Amino acid sequence: MKVYLSPDELPRKWFNIVPYLSEPLPPPLDPETKKPVSPEKLLVIFPMPLIEQEMSMEEWIPIPEEVLQIYGLWRPTPLIRALNLERFLETPAKIFYKHEGVSPPGSHKPNTAVSQAYYNKISGIKKLATETGAGQWGSSLAFATQFFGLECEVYMVRASFKQKPYRRILMELWGAKVEPSPSPHTKAGKQFYEIDPEHPGSLGIAISEAIERAFEDKSTNYALGSVLNHVLLHQTIIGLEAELQMQKLGLYPDYIVGCVGGGSNFAGLVFPFLKHKITGEHPQTEFWAVEPEACPTLTKGEYRYDYGDTVGLTPLIKMYTLGADFVPSPIHAGGLRYHGDAPLLCALYHHGFIKACAYPQEEVFKAGVLFARTEGTVPAPESAHAIKKVIDLALECKKNKEEKVILFNLSGHGYFDLSAYDAYLRGEF
Ligand SMILES: *Cc1c(COP(=O)(O)O)cnc(C)c1O
Repeated sequence: MKVYLSPDELPRKWFNIVPYLSEPLPPPLDPETKKPVSPEKLLVIFPMPLIEQEMSMEEWIPIPEEVLQIYGLWRPTPLIRALNLERFLETPAKIFYKHEGVSPPGSHKPNTAVSQAYYNKISGIKKLATETGAGQWGSSLAFATQFFGLECEVYMVRASFKQKPYRRILMELWGAKVEPSPSPHTKAGKQFYEIDPEHPGSLGIAISEAIERAFEDKSTNYALGSVLNHVLLHQTIIGLEAELQMQKLGLYPDYIVGCVGGGSNFAGLVFPFLKHKITGEHPQTEFWAVEPEACPTLTKGEYRYDYGDTVGLTPLIKMYTLGADFVPSPIHAGGLRYHGDAPLLCALYHHGFIKACAYPQEEVFKAGVLFARTEGTVPAPESAHAIKKVIDLALECKKNKEEKVILFNLSGHGYFDLSAYDAYLRGEF
């Protein structure tokens, strides 16, 4: 069962949760002065409209017409009831998912990539530099920049560059230049490249490389695919659509579940609903952030100021962190291997509005395979983390004979991750 929205029901504003926080968000700090970063400093790598959104106290921010037009290529996305999964589990719970895997790059990430490309374009920028792990963000930015005639340069973690050629090809197909990282082209990359030209790389190193490119060249900016307030803001289109879709069914979720890498798809689905918990309209809803045991940022990290990258080029941000030099084991859910999380999500978690749990890879893939065998769609390994939690909640509902409503984000499809499923099916984990 699917709930579609018509094109004219596409939300026309993003939702900013910041005005609902009980205390101000701890600001990003300049690593040199330890004072809040000035907007002028951020202007070296970000365009003004995005800096304004980063600091905005407005609850509603209009989505530009140009962005809405491109969203229209795949949005509104369907809300789907996972009836076969419910039947298989014999649960009285109703399970719904928001299918973000229907976008051309196959995940939620173009929701912000398109917006960021647009604001950079109208600010006179010619090129965007970025990093990518498994390639989901890089391919989303490549997809987005071509609509606005921007160049796109992607530093791709070398291990993935070698193991995942299809995402690299996708980026090149959408016109991007892709460099394996660490590369010899930046100071940040060189220090690792010269020791070992086959260095497998990390997301932290690749971020440092992309930021350095933006620092160096006036017409090049940097784009980040998660963590920052403006990224989470752009992703709220997911939750705003889902809210409308649930309304059409006359239902309100008791549980909302999402996987967390940096926190953007989770926040995107959750924040519009979380507002109603904060205001006391729907106090019962539980929000579950799911992470891998191999990178347990919320469940095991410390809440403190830390760098966003490995080399220390980014501002210090207050977040749950495993340490900027933390190198997670190479699990297949590449999008969840980040040492920190979005400051906005961390603050809400710190204040008890959000719960978190972590699962080992084997259980996650078992859940992903069950989903594929009942619902058909192969989930991204990242999204399978959310599915694992949903299955556990649905089984709890069965035990307690509770007809609860569960909503989760299918943040992406897994058709570029088949080699990971292959390894799982062959028992090679
Ligand atoms: C990148 C990615 C994630 C993790 O990033 P968040 O910012 O935490 O959403 C999750 N799922 C998919 C499919 C991704 O591509």
